[in-house]
Amino acid sequence: MSLFESPFFQDAYSQLESAGTKMNMDPNVLERLKYPKRALQVSVPVRLDDGTVKVFEGYRVQHNMTLGPGKGGIRFHPHVSLSETAALAMLMTFKCALVGLPLGGAKGGIKVDPNDLSRAELQAMTRRYTTEIAMIIGPDKDVPAPDIGTDGQTMAWLMDTYSQLNGYAVPGVVTGKPIAIGGSLGRAESTGKGVVFCINFAYEKLNKKITNSTTVAIHGFGKVGVPAAEDLDAQGAKIVAISDVSGAIYNPKGLNIKECVSWVKERKLLRELPGVEHITNEQLLELDVDILIPAAIDGVVTKENAHKVKAKIIAEGANGPLTHEAVDIITDRGGLIIPDILCNAGGVIVSYFEWVQGMQMFFWDLETVNTKLHDIMKLSFEKVWVCKEKYKVNMKQAAFIASLDRLQGAMRLRGMWPG
Ligand code: NAD
Repeated sequence: MSLFESPFFQDAYSQLESAGTKMNMDPNVLERLKYPKRALQVSVPVRLDDGTVKVFEGYRVQHNMTLGPGKGGIRFHPHVSLSETAALAMLMTFKCALVGLPLGGAKGGIKVDPNDLSRAELQAMTRRYTTEIAMIIGPDKDVPAPDIGTDGQTMAWLMDTYSQLNGYAVPGVVTGKPIAIGGSLGRAESTGKGVVFCINFAYEKLNKKITNSTTVAIHGFGKVGVPAAEDLDAQGAKIVAISDVSGAIYNPKGLNIKECVSWVKERKLLRELPGVEHITNEQLLELDVDILIPAAIDGVVTKENAHKVKAKIIAEGANGPLTHEAVDIITDRGGLIIPDILCNAGGVIVSYFEWVQGMQMFFWDLETVNTKLHDIMKLSFEKVWVCKEKYKVNMKQAAFIASLDRLQGAMRLRGMWPG
């Protein structure tokens, strides 16, 4: 199994190389950033409800921890691999550096479809996985969070297992926990909220306003897509299409978002929602809308379909939904892409708040969380915009350059051991 096996890792690697060259980066620092610091592969044996034992493949990858403990989600999905996890860990390094957090980049996951397991099996799998990675995680070492296929309950099991191993409660080992065990107000909706903040900042730059004729399509209606839809709906935008893994639904007059949210909260698939037009996920991506939010998985817009994507603004809610070739094609035809490491950073910013609150055992109100989130997102957006103008590059490259600038400074100051 190789790091370079997935197109996602190759894409992240080539974006790093291209931004590093553009900014004339120290080649020794660039060389170090191309590889993860540490990658742990574990076997996760689980006794299934029928009495048989099945072993799942798990990973935790720490890409770079120059700025602080590792930070990054845990994904339960059938496509999880060492290479995909390493690509996501690399993106976390750049995201944390870009938005000024004292955290490094990490990611973890298990190759599994969580929908195939019962609650008891999921709990057993999460607890065994936690035990297997326990030696490299911890509030001062590496702090996991939810990602695709995991949620607050998964984090609660992880926190409990780690605490049992230590003999006392360690809430700071994970973020995205339920409020009752030390979670932060505002964490659940923070990523979607940050995506909408970025869309608003982009509209301000373009001297435009969101109105009831602003059309939006959202690919992926989960922890990121749902709150983004709710905030845009509240601002009066017309959300014409949303999708999940089963397919997409479309209404040119605008969907009833409250109804759609209630439907998915009951764990029902959009394919089964009555009274709406059903289209494919691919058709959703190609709709002629003002704003497209890819908020599901990576690699959904590539050089094969980028020329069919008509949206004026693309806000990358997911990690790596557009390949670098797709970014070039869409930028060349005048589309504005708000890059993932900026656009979906709201989640890690409020995770950082949760970590700080947990370490201090002192908790903030929702207004404080949302105001601080807004201010960091605004500052980071401006930083990327300035870089875009200075280097005459697209927003994606600008975000990488701004992030690499901070990382390079820190890595040079710390130096390399042994030298
Ligand atoms: P989720 O599991 O809550 O939701 C994922 C959504 O995408 C669901 O609607 C699912 O049905 C859909 N989906 C899954 N596979 C699909 C496929 N092959 N085609 C189309 N749709 C598919 O996950 P999430 O937490 O919302 O994460 C979505 C993306 O956002 C991921 O790329 C994740 O890494 C990124 N992200 C999440 C957070 C966070 O705080 N949750 C933070 C930053 C980035």
